[in-house]
Amino acid sequence: MKHNFGAGPGILPQEVFKQAAQAVIDFNGTGLSLLEISHRSKEFEAVLDEAVRLVKELFSVPEGYSVLFLQGGASTQFAMVPYNLLPEGGKAAYLESGVWANKALKEAKYFGEVAVVASSKQSNFTFIPKDFEIPADAAYFHITSNNTIYGTQLQQFFPSPVPVVCDMSSDIFSRKINVADFGLIYAGAQKNMGPAGVTLVIVKDEILGKTGRAIPSMLNYQTQIEGGSMYNTPPTFAIYVSMLTLNWVKAKGGVEAIEQENLAKSKALYAEIDRNPLFKGVAATEDRSHMNVCFVAENPEHEKPFLKLCDEKGIVGIKGHRSVGGFRASIYNALPITSVHVLIEAMQEFAEKNK
Ligand code: PMP
Repeated sequence: MKHNFGAGPGILPQEVFKQAAQAVIDFNGTGLSLLEISHRSKEFEAVLDEAVRLVKELFSVPEGYSVLFLQGGASTQFAMVPYNLLPEGGKAAYLESGVWANKALKEAKYFGEVAVVASSKQSNFTFIPKDFEIPADAAYFHITSNNTIYGTQLQQFFPSPVPVVCDMSSDIFSRKINVADFGLIYAGAQKNMGPAGVTLVIVKDEILGKTGRAIPSMLNYQTQIEGGSMYNTPPTFAIYVSMLTLNWVKAKGGVEAIEQENLAKSKALYAEIDRNPLFKGVAATEDRSHMNVCFVAENPEHEKPFLKLCDEKGIVGIKGHRSVGGFRASIYNALPITSVHVLIEAMQEFAEKNK
């Protein structure tokens, strides 16, 4: 058995894999594979409707917001956000809390002025800057809720005088949020929500249509809203598997229940990192992520043998991102706490052997 701590595409529930595999062979007894049916068939339309409905239910999405399933990953959203929200000659505010935030703000520069309100780049993004002002004349304020590479996460969201746009790629559906606090939320599905190939967008309708720009159809949220995420052929399989995963979240007791489990997992792992003399955490304690737990070996020579021990125990995907080094345990929704215990035991066994 493997314990998948990979950062993404990441672990999904075993039952979702089984249901998805069955649908590829025979979708709901239709005698057809999910992969060969029309996206405009009533069978697939029911899948998309259910996926949208589940997003609305799990996040209690208020009236006045649209839920979209798009393509191009979170990286396309880096450009689509300013394209749709930043007026000609306007300004957008960005918090630079990691490489993904940096990539997002670089795209915005194609469309207008970018005010970086604060950055933790100088300290290799080990913390989330908190002391800054958001310019009241900005079109929006962009943040990254969880910095996948560095293992930092916003524990609370900043009050903002302008609409908040949030990249939630690596912690979507891992904790309760108040959608009304955001103008736009986006997330590549491939960590907590589904397979690679689909991107969730939740957008407040009233913030759209204010830029005076002509926007190409595929990159225009309004076209996508009017087309019900079917302006072109949507990624049917990725949407189907996302729908199954959202249903799994619901069956677990919803986002609140998942959040409690996630807290128990991260608490246990950070406790071991803090206790074990051979390892140390990377991120500032108050900003520690409940999704990506980054740590290093006190002695760099221990890195390789610890990875070897992990491999022997079926622990996979634990090597840290090349810009941070060490280890990164991604403990997404579908990772059971038993896998976290296996990792903790490996750390203890390693410390015992290397006393
Ligand atoms: N934002 C964050 C926080 C991410 O973790 C990632 C991918 N790891 C991205 C954006 C980029 O996503 P995509 O590959 O879907 O474009």
